[in-house]
Amino acid sequence: SPSRSSVIIIGAGISGLSAAKVLAENGIEDLVILEATDRIGGRIRKEKFGGVSVELGAGWIVGVGGKESNPVWEFANQSGLRTCFSDYSNARYNIYDRSGKIFPSGVAADSYKKAVDSAIMKLRSLEASHVGEVIEPPCSPKTPIELAIDFILHDFEMAEVEPISTFVDFGEREFLVADERGYEYLLYKMAEDFLFTSEGKILDNRLKLNKVVREIQHSRNGVIVKTEDDCVYEANYVILSASIGVLQSDLISFRPPLPRWKTEAIGKCDVMVYTKIFLKFPYKFWPCGAEKEFFIYAHERRGYYTFWQHMETAYPGSNVLVVTLTNGESKRVEAQSDEETLKEAMEVLRDMFGPNIPNATDILVPRWWKNRFQRGSYSNYPIISNNQVLHDIKAPVGRIFFTGEHTSERFNGYVHGGYLSGIETSKSLLEEMREEKERKNENQTFL
Ligand code: FAD
Repeated sequence: SPSRSSVIIIGAGISGLSAAKVLAENGIEDLVILEATDRIGGRIRKEKFGGVSVELGAGWIVGVGGKESNPVWEFANQSGLRTCFSDYSNARYNIYDRSGKIFPSGVAADSYKKAVDSAIMKLRSLEASHVGEVIEPPCSPKTPIELAIDFILHDFEMAEVEPISTFVDFGEREFLVADERGYEYLLYKMAEDFLFTSEGKILDNRLKLNKVVREIQHSRNGVIVKTEDDCVYEANYVILSASIGVLQSDLISFRPPLPRWKTEAIGKCDVMVYTKIFLKFPYKFWPCGAEKEFFIYAHERRGYYTFWQHMETAYPGSNVLVVTLTNGESKRVEAQSDEETLKEAMEVLRDMFGPNIPNATDILVPRWWKNRFQRGSYSNYPIISNNQVLHDIKAPVGRIFFTGEHTSERFNGYVHGGYLSGIETSKSLLEEMREEKERKNENQTFL
């Protein structure tokens, strides 16, 4: 029979690692971390591309400069992570039409204001319909510039429509991680505190990589976890940090099955797909400078290669461009070959910068939607969701505790959400362990 540990943590992303660290700091040393892939980090992941480190997943530390200090920002500073301030606010003045002309700033500002007003009205009408009232919803955006701004507003910066807890608590500034060691360097720094490491490598055998959990058996007495390679692990408790997309899929089966309130809540949370496509060029042909860092392409199809960034601020001389797609466009591009995607992106760039620009020499297309250990990029609770859904997604089921960015009440979808959720889940588990111990002691006294 396999040896039994106190806690099994499933997933070695930021939430799983922060949960494990809190347990270790509180004397729970006999833990096991099971990670499906061959690395720690999860959705924090760098890759070498065009001679620099690019972030396929989380790229920004979001929420800096506010009344409270963002713990991830603090940690990044302590670790000496290199970051650059990102000023998105210029993007709306760098909107190209299909003939390569930049919309005059007055037109852009007007369209922007119209889009914000219409988003606010839409929200009001949603709220009204929620309580059985009827308010006429605003008419939907139609022209390419309206569509582009609507896309930017809804898929990137709803802050002007609805207060976002991250901005309210931690501030509205965002910093791009531009460090050769990657955002994931923070996770190694964190792991170093409680796992055995040597020369930048984690050598602790409590971290088990390439262990795909397929089944969790749970009862009043404990949990049994089975992996794809037929290993069996036993513990008193399990912390599950797999993403909301994975929970919605059939990767992990539960015995007995999860109760209905749980599966229903999991089903109610939307999954956002967010794809950063990287393109490498032999030389620059786009305007440089910080105020030109972000630019927008207005096309009659909403979300069609809309949002662009040049990497010259982060990595001067890298000649790398990034374009971000979301949801339907992400899924479409994930399903086609990279050559087709490159062709589409080049057509868009030729619309903006003319026919004589050079072809990209390399392309990188992450596939977060297809990845069976992710099934999307991050959780996206419906704007009018009731708190019960979030409460139920987070709530433990017997000895199974849930963590991850999707369980963060105020900061879901962000790195700091994942980080703080891990801490919170471990604290509730420690509390439960104390109570269990007390119950046992009482029984013994009684006997
Ligand atoms: P994960 O990092 O997904 O960790 C879960 C781990 O569980 C993974 O390592 C996975 O491999 C593992 N796992 C899954 N299933 C199993 C299984 N069956 N058995 C064993 N292991 C399993 N946040 C920001 O703050 N700023 C940003 O700029 C930003 N941009 C983003 C861009 C993209 C493209 C994406 C994808 C995310 C972005 N995010 C951003 C969100 C941020 O990356 C996440 O909120 C955060 O990293 C989630 O951490 P987590 O620990 O909850 O989940």
